[in-house]
Amino acid sequence: MSSKDAIDERVRQTLVKTLYGQPSSMAIGAVCGIITNGAAAYVSRNAFLVAGAILLSIVAIGRVVAALYLRRPGHRRNARVLEIVYETGAFTYSALAGLMSAFAIWAKIDPAVQMLLLGNAIGYGVGISARNAGRPVIALGQLFLCLIPPILACFLSGNLALAMLGFGMLMLLPAMVEITLNVFQVLRRSISTAETSQKLADKMQQLARTDVVTGLANRAGLNHQMVERLMVVGSDRKLALFWMDLDRFKEVNDTLGHPVGDRVLTEIARRLQALELDDTTIARFGGDEFIVVTEVGSRKESEDVAQAILAAINRPIRIDADRLELGASMGIALMPDDGSDFDTLMQSADLALYDAKINGRNRATFFDGSMTRDLVRRKEIEAELRHAIQRDELSIFFQPIVDLETGRIRTFEALVRWFHPERGEMRPDEFIPVAEDTGLIITLGNWITQQAAKACAQWPEDVTIAVNLSPIQIRAPGAALGILAALREARLDPTRLELEVTESLFLEDSENTARFIEELSGHGVRFALDDFGTGYSSLAYIDKFPFKKIKVDRSFVSGKDVGRKSEAIIRAVAEMGNQLEMDIVAEGLETVEQVQAVKNAGCTLGQGYYFSRAVPDYLAAILLSNEHGETAAATATGS
Ligand code: C2E
Ligand code: CA
Ligand code: CA
Repeated sequence: MSSKDAIDERVRQTLVKTLYGQPSSMAIGAVCGIITNGAAAYVSRNAFLVAGAILLSIVAIGRVVAALYLRRPGHRRNARVLEIVYETGAFTYSALAGLMSAFAIWAKIDPAVQMLLLGNAIGYGVGISARNAGRPVIALGQLFLCLIPPILACFLSGNLALAMLGFGMLMLLPAMVEITLNVFQVLRRSISTAETSQKLADKMQQLARTDVVTGLANRAGLNHQMVERLMVVGSDRKLALFWMDLDRFKEVNDTLGHPVGDRVLTEIARRLQALELDDTTIARFGGDEFIVVTEVGSRKESEDVAQAILAAINRPIRIDADRLELGASMGIALMPDDGSDFDTLMQSADLALYDAKINGRNRATFFDGSMTRDLVRRKEIEAELRHAIQRDELSIFFQPIVDLETGRIRTFEALVRWFHPERGEMRPDEFIPVAEDTGLIITLGNWITQQAAKACAQWPEDVTIAVNLSPIQIRAPGAALGILAALREARLDPTRLELEVTESLFLEDSENTARFIEELSGHGVRFALDDFGTGYSSLAYIDKFPFKKIKVDRSFVSGKDVGRKSEAIIRAVAEMGNQLEMDIVAEGLETVEQVQAVKNAGCTLGQGYYFSRAVPDYLAAILLSNEHGETAAATATGS
């Protein structure tokens, strides 16, 4: 069936329904017909008219009854049957009305009776062709059946006046045909217009609820589907919501481009659909987040589903020549356990996802009630940190690193500080991990490097600056260029910058890291290994990368379990440092005894509250100028 035929068929069905649309007008027609023809039969007492009137009454009543019966709700006949039933009754009734009036004229019955029956036939024929214009065959069929018999009778009567009446009625036919067809066209057009705009509206709504990249539901689509879903969950079943966030998707997007990113998303969507979980809604929103909502019988079952989803996402994705391995973090919440309505369920899954992400990604975490407070705080920090950068709430403090032999400041370590207008000072330990999780560390880190380089440019040339770098910063595209740009802008010699990195950097992605270190070392930037002793403490990369400094973690100096063992460790590290011509820094020195101990153990540099806390740039400048003043005084007195 062509699409035009299909539209015609639907229009036809709608129009057939209009035939039965107003049984009242049909009933009025029936009553009029019965009264007129009954009266004609009664007045004329003609046997033919009596028989005709009885027949017509039976047909009229039959039609009304059939119409009422077929209209009843739930009585779903197809349009064709309805039409045939209607057609048969209509044609029989019209033919009877036409024949009765023709008979009265032909048999020269009482003129009043002739007038009565002719008036009825004309009135019915004209009226019905307007009422039934929705089906022109029926409308015009009835018109002709009503009018042709009396027209013929008029012409055959031999009476000039009646012949003229017949002529008038004949002229009525083409006029009514045109009117009926016009009405039909108008009806048909308005029905198909209404249908088209309804279809358009449906389509728009569908689009508004669909994610264009993957064809899955979007946020609006998910909400819409959930409204219907929630009504049909069995009381012995749970609704499980899995909320996935792809790890590293941003990297793929940034390095390989958005078209590749889109293909990755489409592939993930396809895999989720291929799991063929029963009665499942799958949605994507927020860039690289996917949601699967499905019914499960138990918590155990939802674990199985989670494993299946993660396995599907973890499978390497091949795109052209690239083989990508993404992972996903997942938060899971069950209804009614973790939320009795959909919004709460979403919040719970969102918190569980957040927990999964901060606890090392590529894992699935079930919601549990204890998550709420800590995570909400973290999320608040995350939101406020974005503003903090714009609102200048952050600043850099400088803590001296001192030569244990001469007592002079050799380096300042740049440490970021956040003075929150309501919360007061926030510790970097609290917000740096959040900045790392959200990628904010990249913007933040660039800013810190710039500020630190500017401050150092003001100091004497033998004083260097140490800046902490997070692994995330190093993996960001263009990381080395950003640092070199900061140095150029501050007009600082690259040899005066020291970057402190931790061992965790070498656990993954060693190729990028090696390139980063190589490139910057080439320009003269130095590297220090921070927090030594807390991680894997593998000596392999100390040999492999050009470290100038090792910073022994402060837990070996001032922690609660310092003792002979940690002293032995410091001694060993310091010995190695001497051999490799590296400086060994002891962190966290708070007392003179500690300073003496690490110095005896062989450390060359020290950092800690014993010398100074981290201070703002103007105080750092004063510390330096005091030192130079002392030197000048010492030279002057000749000591
Ligand atoms: P870190 O790199 O080990 O920095 C040394 C931390 O020890 C600083 O804490 C410093 O204030 C503290 N400290 C120094 N001397 C003493 C002492 O004698 N006793 C004690 N108890 N603590 C001392 P802070 O500033 O709170 O920084 C904590 C950590 O946050 C840093 O550890 C570093 O990992 C991170 N961080 C700080 N600033 C930055 C930054 O600008 N960028 C990045 N990526 N990380 C930073
Ligand atoms: Ca450090
Ligand atoms: Ca450290």
